Amino acid sequence: MNTSGELPMSTRVADVVVVGAGPVGLMCAYLGQLCGIDVVVIDKSEGPLEVGRADALNARTLQFLELVGLFDELYPVGKTCNTSSVWADGKFVSRQSKWWDQLEGCLHKHFLMIGQSHLEKLLDGKLREIDAAVKRSTSIESIETNSTGCLTTLSTGERIQSRYVIGADGAHSFVRDRFEIPFEITRPQIVWAVIDGVIETDFPKVPEIIVFQAETSDVAWIPREGDIDRFYVRMDTKDFTMDEAVAKINRAMQPHTLSFKEIVWSSKFAVKESVAENFFVHDRVFLVGDACHVHSVNGGQGLNTGLADAFNLMWKLNMVLNFEAPKELLRSYEAERKPVALDVIATSGELVRSTKFSASGTHAEDYVKIVEKRAGNITGMGVRYGDSGLNGSRLFDFEVFNDNARVRLYSLVDYTKFTLLIFGECKFDLKFPEFVKVIQILPNEVQGEFWTDSRQYENQAVLVRPDSYIQESAPLNKIDSLLELCSIKKLNSSKVYSA
Ligand SMILES: Cc1cc2nc3c(=O)[nH]c(=O)nc-3n(C[C@H](O)[C@H](O)[C@H](O)COP(=O)(O)OP(=O)(O)OC[C@H]3O[C@@H](n4cnc5c(N)ncnc54)[C@H](O)[C@@H]3O)c2cc1C
Repeated sequence: MNTSGELPMSTRVADVVVVGAGPVGLMCAYLGQLCGIDVVVIDKSEGPLEVGRADALNARTLQFLELVGLFDELYPVGKTCNTSSVWADGKFVSRQSKWWDQLEGCLHKHFLMIGQSHLEKLLDGKLREIDAAVKRSTSIESIETNSTGCLTTLSTGERIQSRYVIGADGAHSFVRDRFEIPFEITRPQIVWAVIDGVIETDFPKVPEIIVFQAETSDVAWIPREGDIDRFYVRMDTKDFTMDEAVAKINRAMQPHTLSFKEIVWSSKFAVKESVAENFFVHDRVFLVGDACHVHSVNGGQGLNTGLADAFNLMWKLNMVLNFEAPKELLRSYEAERKPVALDVIATSGELVRSTKFSASGTHAEDYVKIVEKRAGNITGMGVRYGDSGLNGSRLFDFEVFNDNARVRLYSLVDYTKFTLLIFGECKFDLKFPEFVKVIQILPNEVQGEFWTDSRQYENQAVLVRPDSYIQESAPLNKIDSLLELCSIKKLNSSKVYSA
């Protein structure tokens, strides 16, 4: 913008610029477009990831994907997995899946094991279909904030004036550095090898996560889509060859043996842990995904936490940009997501250290106990934005009948709006604002357009946020109290996070 407040001729205008088209930036762009937000997404790479990196979508992510029509295309490609087992000295020690089996209010009680590239390609394709393709092979030269938003200059020379910028540019974030957001890194001196490939082994192949206990628990076998398997091997030095990693797998699995017919992808990574001091600055610039939290892969939380950031942020931008919600609503993004990130770091930190250090000497069993204790993070289902009761909890999913067709509750909620679900018989003559979709669900005895056998939320009116957490609830005889809460001006409070 020049001194007279006018934009230079070559400046494009958009609502939001997303820097980075990894899975989290792509998800921000996709959700934004669903909500009718004009999003430009920029990435320095030539195309979406082809192989490697994150490998598991948790149960909450699967619900999010269902909410926005992405589930059906991904689910058949992955492999479901809800069981972890421990082996030591060639012998079976234990097997557990109870933290998945005990989940309530969801259909898919497992991880979907699937490479990150499948999600990236799906989202990249969806954006192309709606003429909102990622601007590839382009990086960011500068970002300046001004009175109406942000002016971003690209390596192509093009400039984009937008209301907001989202830094989804990964662990080495340019956006984070540009705005000098502190990101203090802890390095626990733990180095892993990761190998994806097609294997040959006399060990029975099962769809379970297997942790091998040798001297320490330094080898984990992860089932994956198609004919691929993944191995994580703790090496504790950056100076190793993949042959040495394969030798370590064989030592842990003995008396069984394993070799790779084909290695599809491999990587070395030294564990780094950090959470950004701020998740937004100047009320204009936000960080999501690895740009604001990095940690060890243990527990498979990196990608899942980043996707949950996207689902938390984009509906708030929608309410501010399209429904005139107060800007303070955007501050709740950091208030809600930073505590989750800190908890995720604590979880993965505890898990990764337990592979090396154990008071009892049984690292693999310690590992399983930590998973059990921290299952709320690992499944994603323990995250809530409120202290207690219904408010702030995730909406349970269950079967609902639409006339005579069986559907699920999650198919009725809408990411572009709030949904007021009225469970039970009551007459109301209230006019709810445009950003609230109202659905009455009757009990089985009465039936109607929508009805259910479930007693969950019986005789309650439940106001559901676009990301399917409960904003507020009230008994049916106090439904008019919700009308007051459905005022756009009231959408400024953040909730307290707990797992
Ligand atoms: C080597 C490696 C191995 C991993 N292995 C695992 C694993 O085994 N399991 C697991 O759960 N997780 C793993 N992860 C972590 C997981 O991949 C991340 O949590 C996830 O990718 C985060 O997504 P994101 O979109 O936030 O960031 P990223 O996926 O890092 O995407 C950032 C995007 O921003 C782009 N970008 C960066 N800077 C700029 C710029 N200046 N201008 C334009 N574009 C820019 C990049 O090209 C990239 O496309 C791994 C990560 C790495 C790096």
